[in-house]
Parts: sequence; C-alpha cells; structure tokens
Amino acid sequence: MSDCLFCKIIAGEIPSAKVYEDALCYAFSDIAPQAPVHFLVIPKAHIASVSQVDGSNSGVVAHIFEVIAQLAKEQGLESYRVVSNIGEQAGQSVFHLHFHVLSGRDMTWPPG
Ligand code: 5GP
Ligand code: ZN
Repeated sequence: MSDCLFCKIIAGEIPSAKVYEDALCYAFSDIAPQAPVHFLVIPKAHIASVSQVDGSNSGVVAHIFEVIAQLAKEQGLESYRVVSNIGEQAGQSVFHLHFHVLSGRDMTWPPG
C-alpha cells in the first residue's frame, strides 16, 4: 500500500535498522524501544492487522512465529513477550500487521 509506513520501510523508502529479512517477512528495531530488546516482525505483504488474517494469508503468520522463535534463540532471549495490537483502543498506531518482540526487563501482567 503506497501510503503505509511499514510498506515504505519494506521498500527501503524509509530507513530502518534491519534485524532479519527473508522472502516473506522483515524484522527491524522499533524506533521508540519500550524494552532493552524491542523489534518488530512484519509480513512483506500488506495486512492491516490480526483482524484481517484468514485462510488465505495465515501461512505468513505461522512463518513469522517460526522466525520469532529462531531470532529469540539466536539472541539468547530466555524470556520475552510477543504483542500485536489490534485497533486504536488496543494501541495500534500503524495499520500494517506487526508483532512486537520485547525482552530484557521485568514486565507486568496484566498490561496497562
Ligand atoms: P503499534 O502502536 O501499532 O502497536 O506499534 C507501532 C510501532 O511502530 C511503535 O512501537 C512505534 O514506535 C513503531 N514505529 C513507528 N514509526 C516507526 C518508524 O518510522 N520506524 C520504526 N523503526 N518504528 C516505527
Ligand atoms: Zn503496509
């Protein structure tokens, strides 16, 4: 999508700190980290949020979770949180599906 921030990051039109990339997904550091480790993993295909996941595109979500597990192993993360906000009330500000991976500090539950 031409007016989507994360599609522009994937296209290289907006710079980002790459953590990982393959044919299906891209991972990069969050610009405003909320933990010592905070990166985002996104599908290269534009999907607005988890609410738009269905049988036609769920394969990339499964793939992203494999990538998250692999990156966490490589980075030696023993405890981490994976978050996806859906909708403005839940805190979504960029409407391109993304999974936050956060680690390196104590975290509370339930979230605020
Ligand atoms: P959301 O609020 O939609 O769950 O998460 C969006 C995330 O994208 C936020 O954590 C925000 O800091 C991050 N973000 C927004 N703009 C940029 C950007 O231009 N570059 C990077 N690397 N992260 C961004
Ligand atoms: Zn997009």
